[in-house]
Amino acid sequence: MALTFNPIPASYRRLSDDELTERIRRKKQASGDKLVILTHHYQRKEVAALGDYIGDSYALSKIASELEAEIIVFCGVHFMAEAADILSTDKQTVYLPNPLAGCPMADMAAITNVMHAWDQLKELLPDTKIIPIAYMNTAADLKAFCGRNDGLICTSSNATGAFRWGLERGDKVFFYPDEHLGRNTANKLAIPENEIAVWDYRLRRLGGNTPEKIKNAKVIIWKGYCHVHTTFTPEHVQRMREKFPDVKVVVHPECPQEVVKLADADGSTAFIVKYVEEAEPGATIAIGTEINLVDRLAHENPDKKIMELSGNTCAMCVNMYRTTLNDLAWCLENLDDIRPIEVRPEIKEEARLSLSRMLEVPR
Ligand code: SF4
Repeated sequence: MALTFNPIPASYRRLSDDELTERIRRKKQASGDKLVILTHHYQRKEVAALGDYIGDSYALSKIASELEAEIIVFCGVHFMAEAADILSTDKQTVYLPNPLAGCPMADMAAITNVMHAWDQLKELLPDTKIIPIAYMNTAADLKAFCGRNDGLICTSSNATGAFRWGLERGDKVFFYPDEHLGRNTANKLAIPENEIAVWDYRLRRLGGNTPEKIKNAKVIIWKGYCHVHTTFTPEHVQRMREKFPDVKVVVHPECPQEVVKLADADGSTAFIVKYVEEAEPGATIAIGTEINLVDRLAHENPDKKIMELSGNTCAMCVNMYRTTLNDLAWCLENLDDIRPIEVRPEIKEEARLSLSRMLEVPR
């Protein structure tokens, strides 16, 4: 197996996939109910196959909040393992097998930048109730920020419900870090273009907006993006339709709105999985999301023609791809020595509050 850079011991790097799989299985069996492996849909197929549960970030955070196992090994990216730690009890310990697995989109909203934006919004609109909503793809301190400011977390599964929740309780919603999920959600709620402001965190004053633009806005959206989902373009959809007139196009809402508008359907990772599973045998489906999931769906649904939408670019999340069988085996066999993911207690409570509000919002 090709290994991305990772300083795990050479003894683990030399093992074959079969040896690693066998060792992981043995360790799981020996641990019984004490240990649970959670795997995100975008994981490599050989890692995904070893999970006790597979899901998107919403499903896995819900599962993490209900688990009783002492040890939770999260094959995903950093913010997901943090969310599992926030939602689990103090008796449970969460591990991320590859500590380099992060999310570039989450990194686009740093707490200092969000605080800077929040202070400016409060100064401009002292009497306006603004509800902060953080996408699940954020660090724990940003989830805590939502918790202490009457806000909540959302995932792509429940973003519409979360925006509705926010607009029922406040005058405006301030959403970070994904511009595209923000725009697509605002479109679903029929919020007009002139009531959407995009906050460019690289700019010094009002994120590049005029005071009037911010005052008129119902939703203020952070200018972040996912490098995987923004590879898809309207031309990809058009080309696919020319080539396969019967094709159904389903995309993730982190794709640009121009792509979502041309698709037959859009929704979270869980939605896409269900869409493919429920399609008639013989259906042709082009999917605008991460390639490891598309490959797995094609493999698991041989009676349907499943394709990645762009056909010529590689929509792969290299961060999800970082976790290898080698990492998982090393993690499971060295739990006493490896540092778990631990969210600082002073922010854990507020972050938990915003996550538990999320779990109560209808999807
Ligand atoms: S697919 Fe995009 S949003 Fe999801 S973890 Fe990878 S970079 Fe982050």
